[in-house]
Amino acid sequence: MSSFGRGYSIFASTLADMTWPEVEAAGQANTPLLVPVAVIEQHGPHLPLATDTYGAHLLCTLIREHMDQRRTRVLIAPPFYYGLNSTTGMFPGSLVIKPETMAALLTEVLGNLASWGFRRQFIVNHHGDPEHNRVIVESILALRKQGIETTYLLGGMIQTFVDAAYQSTFKKPLPLQSEAVIRAGESERTREARLRLTRSRGPDVHAGERETSLILRWYPESVPAHVQLREIRPVPETLREFQEAEATGRWRELSPWGHIGDPAVASVENGELYELEAADMAAALHAYLAKSG
Ligand SMILES: [Zn+2]
Repeated sequence: MSSFGRGYSIFASTLADMTWPEVEAAGQANTPLLVPVAVIEQHGPHLPLATDTYGAHLLCTLIREHMDQRRTRVLIAPPFYYGLNSTTGMFPGSLVIKPETMAALLTEVLGNLASWGFRRQFIVNHHGDPEHNRVIVESILALRKQGIETTYLLGGMIQTFVDAAYQSTFKKPLPLQSEAVIRAGESERTREARLRLTRSRGPDVHAGERETSLILRWYPESVPAHVQLREIRPVPETLREFQEAEATGRWRELSPWGHIGDPAVASVENGELYELEAADMAAALHAYLAKSG
């Protein structure tokens, strides 16, 4: 059996790898549940379509380890990857799903989990698309109306791209009241690691330095053997060029390969940012749970 087959299950450490009696018992205990949310989306010629799904699953498994160390049990839902690609849908590989379809599926899945007893749900998302985030927010609000405590758990690195995309499209911040969102603070080490991602010459938006480092550090075998990372050219020069192309649906004209950033400067060391981000998120979640009892 190849290590690919053993190492890459997005069900690893999730409810999907448990039996129903175990799930029933965990639900009856109202165990807090992390919910990885992402997409299947083109990520350039060098990264797999599941990059965001791996990112969300990885964060959840790392957060869970930190919570174990704090003697607080949390579980992880099977990853939800039918999110929205409103900006890269012109590429094969980016699943195009209607917002109402995603909203219906996400709220039904989370409603199901709540009916098993998991009524404290924490969404860990790894995709900046503004429409995708609009649906996450609406789903959280709909679930909260049903009395389910669904909360958006945002780490510092994720906040930088989720907030920027939402603000630039909708001209306002994420419309979530404070009880529906946990904004994890950034430790000094995390901030340094995030700012170290500055070797890129242009903006690092999609399949660039950060995401390529994520895959190099955690899922190296998913990079195709024929790809020469160092030969991929950075696209574009300025953030403004990207924003104009995105707003007019001309992403593919701007970047025929699909990346917005500089994959060639990615490194295994930069992938450590995810470990630090998860530690911050676990600390914030732990404090939240301690307060809410
Ligand atoms: Zn991505």
